[in-house]
Amino acid sequence: MVAEPEAADGPAPGVRGVAILGSTGSIGTTALRVLARQRDRFRVVALTAFANAELLGEQAELHRPGFVGLVDGVPTGRKGWAYGPDCLVEAASRPDADVVLNAVVGAAGLDATLAALGAGKRVALANKETLVMAGELVTRAAARGGGEIVPVDSEHSAILQCLTGRRGTEVRRVILTASGGPFRDWTRERLAAATVSDALQHPTWRMGRKITVDSATLANKALEVIEAHYLFGLPYDRIEVVVHPQSVVHSFVEFVDGSVLAQMGAPSMELPVLYALTHPDRVPDTGVPGFDPVGLSPLTFESVRAEDFPALQLGIEAGRAGGAAPAVFNAANEQAVALFLDGLVRFADIPRAIASALDALGSRAGGSRDALLAADAEARRHVELLFAC
Ligand code: NAD
Ligand code: MG
Repeated sequence: MVAEPEAADGPAPGVRGVAILGSTGSIGTTALRVLARQRDRFRVVALTAFANAELLGEQAELHRPGFVGLVDGVPTGRKGWAYGPDCLVEAASRPDADVVLNAVVGAAGLDATLAALGAGKRVALANKETLVMAGELVTRAAARGGGEIVPVDSEHSAILQCLTGRRGTEVRRVILTASGGPFRDWTRERLAAATVSDALQHPTWRMGRKITVDSATLANKALEVIEAHYLFGLPYDRIEVVVHPQSVVHSFVEFVDGSVLAQMGAPSMELPVLYALTHPDRVPDTGVPGFDPVGLSPLTFESVRAEDFPALQLGIEAGRAGGAAPAVFNAANEQAVALFLDGLVRFADIPRAIASALDALGSRAGGSRDALLAADAEARRHVELLFAC
């Protein structure tokens, strides 16, 4: 559907302003599709991207935000555009943004999340890496500034939907579902020879390259366990993972009386993006196909092959260790995935790099933004050096 451009004058009363950080990515473009259907409720007030000026320009033309920011680009005379890394915080701090959808990939999204929460905004958080690397800092920024984090990740959206209206004391445990990625049934020998193009063939989701590789190593599920710990205040022994190849059950919550609630639907990020904007309300939308239990059958569940996908356990242990360990886990993973995508290391080197960085740096203290950024930088350097010879 091609939407009409928005009028450039002010928003109608009751319409909430949304700033989208990372608007040219998989989540960012999904969000713009959702918002094009929800113009009675939301208006795009800011867009940012890393380097794709062309797509950003098309999006700006269509949605007419008051702010457009390009992180990695040179000014080309486009009126009203801002340039450089500071444009993320600028977009996240705008008074006309009620909700900041952080759909940036990786640690680069941290300061924007902190700024938005500090300014009392809702952060619709896709950028899980920043909650993982700085969970306590982010939680504190929300408490101090009056902001709130609402997850976009489908599993956490599912849990939030099951928990809404319930008391935390009623929860026994949560079970995150994992598709298992493209290598779910590969033997260990075959895994050792997995290529970049193998790793990018995700069976159920179309996503950016970094999260697609994270789904293949199961590092993504480790990030999600840590994310759940901070979002829902649950200890690690009450967060479990089960493999569910069809990605129809987005997660489970088990309550103290033994009842289990799940949130389901055909795999689509449109619903979790919309719900992050409207929570606790639901609004009519057409982003997910009608539920067809027979068509979606069978729904199956398996244990995780933890020994063949060691990134999961490494991440959970980093989460339990606390301090700077989750930041080290995240940064080592980001660096190793970048090297893998560039064809410079093998698939099995990703968990090896994470383990090595955690051995060397995992007992660092966290505490402050500067300490976490230093640990992040050291972990990246550690991984670079590991493969330099
Ligand atoms: P993507 O690579 O498709 O898009 C990333 C976006 O961030 C792009 O707009 C890019 O321009 C921008 N960006 C990249 N590096 C940047 C930097 N250094 N500074 C500023 N902007 C930068 O990624 P994606 O798949 O949309 O994922 C985005 C985030 O959402 C990730 O944290 C991912 O884990 C999370 N997420 C994605 C999905 C999904 O279905 N794609 C699902 C759940 C969670
Ligand atoms: Mg997820």
